[in-house]
Amino acid sequence: MTDDVPKIELHLHLEGAAPPAFIKGLAQEKSIRLDGVFSENGSYAFTGFEQFLRTYEAATSVLKTPEDYARLTRAVLEQSAEQGVIYTEAFLSPDFCGGRDVGAWREYLAAMQEAAAGMRNEAGIVLRGVVTCIRHFGPEKARETALCAAETAGDFITGFGIAGDEMAGKPADFAYSFDMAREAGLELTAHAGEWGGASSVRDALRDLKPTRIGHGVQVIDDPVLVDHLIETGVTLEVCPGSNIALGVYPSWDKHPIETLRSAGVRVTVSTDDPPFFHTTLRREYDRLADTFGWDDEIVREVNRTAAQAAFCDPETRAELLLKLESTA
Ligand SMILES: [Zn+2]
Repeated sequence: MTDDVPKIELHLHLEGAAPPAFIKGLAQEKSIRLDGVFSENGSYAFTGFEQFLRTYEAATSVLKTPEDYARLTRAVLEQSAEQGVIYTEAFLSPDFCGGRDVGAWREYLAAMQEAAAGMRNEAGIVLRGVVTCIRHFGPEKARETALCAAETAGDFITGFGIAGDEMAGKPADFAYSFDMAREAGLELTAHAGEWGGASSVRDALRDLKPTRIGHGVQVIDDPVLVDHLIETGVTLEVCPGSNIALGVYPSWDKHPIETLRSAGVRVTVSTDDPPFFHTTLRREYDRLADTFGWDDEIVREVNRTAAQAAFCDPETRAELLLKLESTA
């Protein structure tokens, strides 16, 4: 039913969205052995968070060159377009694309951008990049990443964010990097409130001043903060299937997305690292329909929220909103 509503995805890690068959093929081409990465049915194999990280690192270690990233971009956008996604923002990491060297980063970026332009022509899907520093790599490396972001801010790179281990360091350690990105005209998002509790969202909002929070679901434990989100219009990039796969919440009916949405928090739906969590955007919405009775009108409203919170130019936003309304 919800298949008719075009989807807008705001929280997707490019490497984490790599289809297993794509990674397997690339490993074979390069004669790289990937022991224990795939299950018998061809999906990514792991149980628990520690093993998830090991599998993720092993799988993404085969991605090395700008050409690999061009092919990855294409494979990910093909997968998203099949899910009815018309606009997606991907987290891109200069750490993995040229080791935070601005010149090398430009080469990776050009390759990804060209692949994205091709997919826009072929499938109508629009991609924007959010450069992301990795929290557990520390604030010094984050500054280099922020410089890569600032130097390439423009039509394609429109945002800056922070991902990685939420328990490592404090948001304030990364304020300098966020300031640099903001001054370069980039919009801001920060992973918080997935593992670090409601206080991690409070800290991120205070010290980094993002307009969006990646996950943020644990604000549910702090009613004052929930009210603050409603008042300020901060948007949450909620990834329910990811939260359940990693054990943040035990089951769909225990997930707070519907409580937050009906309270008036601006929530959106994304897949995070979909093949790793055995999910797709369609599956997320199907489960939300089954669990909370989400109908087309709610799905449209959530995607309207996503269009309004997207890190894009006004023309692109108007196009997205028009596409959403024209299928009503
Ligand atoms: Zn994420």
